[in-house]
Amino acid sequence: MKKEQHSSVIIARQEHGISRKLMSPNALRVLYRLKDNGFVGYFVGGCVRDLLLGREPKDFDVVTNATPNEVKRIFRNCRLVGRRFRLAHIHFHDEIIEVATFRSQAPDDPEPEQLEAGKPEHRQRHVRMLRDDDGMILRDNVYGTPEEDALRRDFTVNSLSYNIADFSIIDYTGGLADLNAGIIRTIGDPDVRFQEDPVRMLRAVRFAAQLGFTIEEHTRKALAAAAATIVRAAPPRLYDEMLKLLLSGEGAKCYDLLCQTGLFAALFPDFSSWLGAESEGFPHTRFGEMLDYVDSRIQQGDKVSQPLLLALIFGEYIDEKAERFRRQGAPWQQSVNAAVAEFMGETCPVVMIANRVGMALRDIISQQMRLKKIPGRRPETFISRHDFNDIIEYCRVTRGDKKEVGKQLDWWAAQAEQQAPVPVPPELMRETEALPRKRKRRRRRRNPNAKSGTEGI
Ligand code: ATP
Ligand code: MG
Repeated sequence: MKKEQHSSVIIARQEHGISRKLMSPNALRVLYRLKDNGFVGYFVGGCVRDLLLGREPKDFDVVTNATPNEVKRIFRNCRLVGRRFRLAHIHFHDEIIEVATFRSQAPDDPEPEQLEAGKPEHRQRHVRMLRDDDGMILRDNVYGTPEEDALRRDFTVNSLSYNIADFSIIDYTGGLADLNAGIIRTIGDPDVRFQEDPVRMLRAVRFAAQLGFTIEEHTRKALAAAAATIVRAAPPRLYDEMLKLLLSGEGAKCYDLLCQTGLFAALFPDFSSWLGAESEGFPHTRFGEMLDYVDSRIQQGDKVSQPLLLALIFGEYIDEKAERFRRQGAPWQQSVNAAVAEFMGETCPVVMIANRVGMALRDIISQQMRLKKIPGRRPETFISRHDFNDIIEYCRVTRGDKKEVGKQLDWWAAQAEQQAPVPVPPELMRETEALPRKRKRRRRRRNPNAKSGTEGI
């Protein structure tokens, strides 16, 4: 039975298929403790969406009417985090449950009586909402009601809550109908919601691809119209979101949607126009193959490191840049360094790749040369590099179909498996011999103060 309450729809326990067995026991413990202490406690957002879809939630977000300080008083294992908006983190052995106090997005004038000392924090309505001239939210830390908390969320399917008091689902936005119909729809006017936070556009794409949903027409039109404004979001945040898209297991689908909406060209203008052009009469098809490869790895439950992901996705583009530097006379290592530096220089102003990740990406590409030198100097040192597996995998995925490369990879794999040195097969030996290593002559340094051996005789 659906029961209307204010503007919400409550779906009773027996009307929905969510079982508590699918929930994190720690997160449930948090909800029960809040309830036992007289507070309201809900699961909210992605976990409720995923539970209803029969998917395993990534994390369980809890919202409550208890203030962060009140939460801290209830839980010994609680730490408050966040300067802008205080959140409580409840620490368990292998899990942290995030507990947020209901928030509102609506800017509100302070009401004098509510600002009086001694009023509960969550009822105070300071003006803490700050927007820039274009309506982007810069700061939003106003406590609110459960309904306001649901309405400030991005999409209807992400606004459902699960109430521990009666195990019901509360739907303030029509999220359940959209979930059943497979629709991603912003809560409220999509033009406004994307203006407030352009990152929501990337989230719409990710959820549509990940869940196999369609983006509702108004939302899609607003998204396409606002695509170019994605660059207003903070570059490190855009990188984080892009990672989530590419590592979602549906990266290829995400890419298609990013292209259709114009987001991809806005995020990666140089790379995107390179992809659209041909090199020496050939289209750039490797990129699509790499997206499929990463998707298959993720779908198998494997992890792909950030530098390897970037190398797979952007490697061909970087190689072409390096080739340009090489033609200008730069040696291999320098040309790769210059190519990666150029790539970082054009990408980072919009999508900020951390320097350390950029350096690790550069290493994967530049160490490809080392794989050809068999056995080379100190193969065991090379094998013990932290990124050895990434270097090997990059080689295997991008060039492994070549017979010669396959043999080299086999040798390295055997070498890595065994402690004792693996003999070099003659056909690989020839290549090694073709690249003789210059040995530096080491001269003994004379110590001018040392007495000569013959002195004193
Ligand atoms: P997943 O964790 O599976 O990627 P999620 O929906 O849980 O998906 P989170 O980033 O964990 O996504 O965010 C938790 C919830 O916070 C969302 O479900 C949504 O309700 C809200 N939310 C997150 N980002 C935004 C945003 N940019 N604008 C409005 N609400 C947001
Ligand atoms: Mg989540």
